[in-house]
Amino acid sequence: MYAPPGVKTNHNEFPIAETMRAWVLGDPGELSMSEKPVPVPKKAEVLVRIDAVAICQTDLEIIYHGPPALIQGGQPFNKNFTPGHEYMGRVVALGPGVDECKIGQRVAVEIHAGCGQCKRCREGMYTSCHNYGMNYGDHDKGHRANGFTTDGGFCEYQVNNVNTLIPIPEEMSDEEGTLVVTAGTGMYALTELGGLMAGESVCVTGPGPIGLLTVAVAKALGAQPVILTGTRDNRLQIGKELGADAVINIRKEPDVVEAVKKLNGGKGVDYAVECSAATSAVNDAVHMVNRGGRVCLAAYAGDKVPVDVAHIVRNNIYLCGIRGEGKSATHRAEAFMAQKRFDATKIHTHTFPLDDLPTAIRYAKDRVEDAIKVVVKAKMDAAHKEAVE
Ligand SMILES: [Zn+2]
Ligand SMILES: [Zn+2]
Repeated sequence: MYAPPGVKTNHNEFPIAETMRAWVLGDPGELSMSEKPVPVPKKAEVLVRIDAVAICQTDLEIIYHGPPALIQGGQPFNKNFTPGHEYMGRVVALGPGVDECKIGQRVAVEIHAGCGQCKRCREGMYTSCHNYGMNYGDHDKGHRANGFTTDGGFCEYQVNNVNTLIPIPEEMSDEEGTLVVTAGTGMYALTELGGLMAGESVCVTGPGPIGLLTVAVAKALGAQPVILTGTRDNRLQIGKELGADAVINIRKEPDVVEAVKKLNGGKGVDYAVECSAATSAVNDAVHMVNRGGRVCLAAYAGDKVPVDVAHIVRNNIYLCGIRGEGKSATHRAEAFMAQKRFDATKIHTHTFPLDDLPTAIRYAKDRVEDAIKVVVKAKMDAAHKEAVE
C-alpha cells in the first residue's frame, strides 16, 4: 500500500496502490501504456487522483513535435514522460505540512506552478517563469508545469502544488471540471493581458476551445458587442450559444476586417483575441481593432506571418502573446462556471476511457465526428464509449 513517510492519506475512503497506469511518450507520436510508481507529494504539494483529463491542441503539439514541452532541458521524447495537462480530480494525499486543503476535496488543476522565486513568479506571472523547465540536476529551481516540464495527467495520479488547486463544486461534472483551465486562458487574455472593462468591444477570431470559451468569458465580463469569426457554421453557432452577439463566417464574408468594423460603428473593436492560427489572422486582428486598441495572440501559426508593422505603430496598437493562464485567472474563470454564467460543456463532445487515449487523440486531432473537446477518464469501463450529442 502507498504510505510514504510524512504523507497523509485516507485509505478507507481513497485507497491508493503503489503503482499506477500511465501513458508514456516514446518517439514523436508514439504513446505506450506503462506502470509507474504513484508520485509522492513534497512540502506544499498534494496528490491528486485524476478523474478526467481533456486533450488540448498543445498536447498534440507536444506528442508529435515536442515544444513547448521541455524535459531535462530538451525534447520530451523517450524520457519516460507522461503528457496531459487539463485535468481535474480529488485530493487523496497531503504532503508534509499541507493544511490548505483536505483529503477528498474536488479540484481542477492549474498547469503552471512556476519556480516561485524569479521576477515573473513574484509578479504573479508564473506562466512566464524565467526558470521554465529548470527542475533537474544542478538546474533544480522547482519549476513545475504539468505535462510540459513535469509529468502530466494521462495517468491515474499526479502531484501538484497547493497553489495550483482550484476547488470545484460537487455539482460540476468531471468533464466540465477539465474545462476550467481553458476558460482560465480566456480570462487571462481578457482581464490581465487585455485589461478589458465592461462595455468594451471584443472580437475573437477562431472558434476552437479557447476561442469559444473566451467568447463566453468576455460576455460574462460584460463586453459589448462580442464578435466571433470562423469558417464553420456549427462552431459559430456554439459561439452564439456561449454569448457571441454576432458571428462572421469568413468563407462567406471575404473582407472580415470590414465586417467586424461594420458591426461596431465602423471603427473596429477595442480588443481582438486571435485564436485561429490562420496565416492572415494576425494582420487581420491588428486591422480589426480601433486606434489605441489591443490584440492578444493566443494561437501560433506554423510559419512566420507577415504583419503591417507601420499600421501598428501609427495607430498605437498594443500587441501581446499569451502563455497559459497566470495571475490566478483560472480561479476567476471557475467562479463564473460555478455561478453557471455560461455552459462550458457545450464544447465537450466525446469521452473515452484512459486506456483508449490513442483513439481519443485521433478524435481530437482529426476532428472525428466534429470533435471539439475530447476527455479521457481513468475510471471508465474500457468497453464503454460515451458520445455526447
Ligand atoms: Zn491546454
Ligand atoms: Zn519563476
